[in-house]
Amino acid sequence: MRIAMYSTKPYDRRSFEAAANPQGHAFTFLEPRLTRDTAVLARGTEAVCPFVNDDLSAPVLEALAAGGTRLVALRCAGFNNVDLHAAARLGITVARVPAYSPHAVAEFTIGLLLSLVRGIHRAWQRTRDGNFALDGLLGFDLHGRTVGVVGTGKIGALVARGLAAGFGCRVLAQDVRPDPALQAIGVAYADIRTIAAQSDIITLHCPLTPETHHLIRAETLALARPGLVLVNTSRGGLIDAEAAIEALKTGRLGGLAIDVYEQEADLFFEDLSNEILTDDVLARLLTFPNVLVTGHQAFFTREALGAIAATTLDNASRFAAGQPLGAAAVTEAAVVPQQDGAR
Ligand code: NAD
Repeated sequence: MRIAMYSTKPYDRRSFEAAANPQGHAFTFLEPRLTRDTAVLARGTEAVCPFVNDDLSAPVLEALAAGGTRLVALRCAGFNNVDLHAAARLGITVARVPAYSPHAVAEFTIGLLLSLVRGIHRAWQRTRDGNFALDGLLGFDLHGRTVGVVGTGKIGALVARGLAAGFGCRVLAQDVRPDPALQAIGVAYADIRTIAAQSDIITLHCPLTPETHHLIRAETLALARPGLVLVNTSRGGLIDAEAAIEALKTGRLGGLAIDVYEQEADLFFEDLSNEILTDDVLARLLTFPNVLVTGHQAFFTREALGAIAATTLDNASRFAAGQPLGAAAVTEAAVVPQQDGAR
């Protein structure tokens, strides 16, 4: 099968070329993002392979379908960028990589949290400039702190386990499907308001859906303990960034570490160091000493890239052979309905 890969970076190409490909699927590696304008590049291609910031809204899917595309093989776990209703209407199958390395994202989350609360990233910058002073780097112990973990699926469960069992935190969690294995190690499930009111740290690991959009907003932040530290390695749209800025200005939010940003699509994964940053919200966020931003990097390990390539190729082979996609299938039914009070 010929597969048009959008938003291709050299590391994507390397990992897909290194992966076992017994069915001999042929890739067209395209650098542009998938948009209404670039959908034409996939004309005559049975499958496309998009990434997190590619546009799979109805008009784009219609253009792909008109060009003969029958499979959207996402090379990521999240599928919030796909209009699943339109895909079903157009007879396009959507597949994803449900789990490539939850460890990659969970470990990065803990890394961001530690960096932020201990100022490790700032110390790195200072010492390179001959500044060995500690002023401004005063942190706090994670041990004994209350951490709210929102979404305890594959990634959130690892984070909750690491913080509870490894660091000795009290972990409160929220999920539409509580995990008994986490409850057995002392993780207590609560609603988002309780989590906001009781947590020193909140880390987000639920998918972005209409229900979770701006889950963290002015109203949620108003409930928070002053100095709350917020970490988001899930999807940018979970946080209202402008509300976060207001909370940072008052100190209600004591720290923010984000690997994802709602308006990241035109920014992340690109070197824009010689460009003018026109996103004033992101520009403001970058001025705070207690904000740490990374460019959607949590997934980026050798293990994860290898697993993404292997699963994507397997998804293509299954589709070509008419076999069920199993857990990789993305259908409208895959969108988890929200429980009362979950928001
Ligand atoms: P998962 O499906 O295993 O877990 C998601 C959990 O969220 C599930 O337990 C689900 O029940 C829960 N959930 C659904 N709706 C909820 C709601 N309204 N409130 C609370 N919980 C809710 O997914 P995962 O593999 O753990 O990934 C989590 C998220 O991480 C993905 O949705 C994706 O957006 C993001 N992600 C980011 C990166 C990165 O590089 N930054 C990489 C991979 C995944």
